[in-house]
Amino acid sequence: GCHSHLSWVSDPDQDHNILSELSIGGLSQEFFAMLRRAFISRALPQERLQQMGIKHVKGILLHGPPGTGKTLLARQIGKLLNSHEPKVVSGPEILNKYVGESEANIRALFKEAEEEYQAKGDESDLHLIVFDELDAICRTRAAHQVSPSALDCWCCDTPTNLHARRGWTYSGTMVGDCIVNQLLAKMDGPKALNNILLIGMTNRKDLIDDALLRPGRFEVHIEVKLPDQAGRVEILRIHTAKLLQNGFLGQTVDLGAIAALTQNYSGAEIEGVVKSACSYALSRNMDFSDLRTLGTGPRGVTVTQADLEKGVQ
Ligand code: ATP
Repeated sequence: GCHSHLSWVSDPDQDHNILSELSIGGLSQEFFAMLRRAFISRALPQERLQQMGIKHVKGILLHGPPGTGKTLLARQIGKLLNSHEPKVVSGPEILNKYVGESEANIRALFKEAEEEYQAKGDESDLHLIVFDELDAICRTRAAHQVSPSALDCWCCDTPTNLHARRGWTYSGTMVGDCIVNQLLAKMDGPKALNNILLIGMTNRKDLIDDALLRPGRFEVHIEVKLPDQAGRVEILRIHTAKLLQNGFLGQTVDLGAIAALTQNYSGAEIEGVVKSACSYALSRNMDFSDLRTLGTGPRGVTVTQADLEKGVQ
């Protein structure tokens, strides 16, 4: 570890090694630079943060098309930051039509982080909470289908006068609402915890209320794009690494050529191509009779260029 501030010089090679362990292909240098800036404050001692008058980033938003590795990335960020096992929930899962249930869901989600924070304060470890389909819980008013009675809360259908009795106010933006209010209180309210990081994911950033994207909230926005040619090669390499390592990949396989055939494919779809290629290779050597002697199939299997090409279709 570096104890003197003089040794805090960033080392791109070191970063490169750590990032290549993430098993995510096609992410740009800018992308990693952005991640570094978002998280680096967590490497500072508490005292230094106070001296500089800065706070940790509490929320980041990963947005981009489906299957581009956002969930994978969120989990890997957890590893990068040495957090507890991330809690991954989907926006729609949090919503519940029964009064109070959605709020209870949110409370349960933060319980562990809260208890640890109460016990250890700023010394406690990071808790990562990942919201898939964040747009489901915090759509802009315009985008949301307003319930027939404008007096019902849009997210839980509770009559808003009930909310008012509980002290929740309706401010005219979506952030007046119960679930979102609760989330924001955990992020930048007076009792906000320092040991949490929220990662929101969405395919529809345009649907998310601006109020959630302000500083102190989901303030870092990172776009995860479909991979380009070089990115697709990286992703193919990641998903054929085991095959290569164990001698199941044909010697003449040209991943560049497969990448060229998979324009506009997402990482998840590229992974699918490799899986499908494996199934072609296996079914060449095996038939249904092998299913009767499960687990004793032929050892010599080769995934060829032709298998990968068929996998693309
Ligand atoms: P969605 O928006 O549909 O939830 P997502 O962006 O969260 O999609 P993931 O669920 O992370 O996508 O992707 C599914 C799987 O596809 C990953 O677990 C991984 O195996 C593979 N994958 C996707 N993108 C990449 C990538 N860039 N590098 C390596 N593998 C990838």
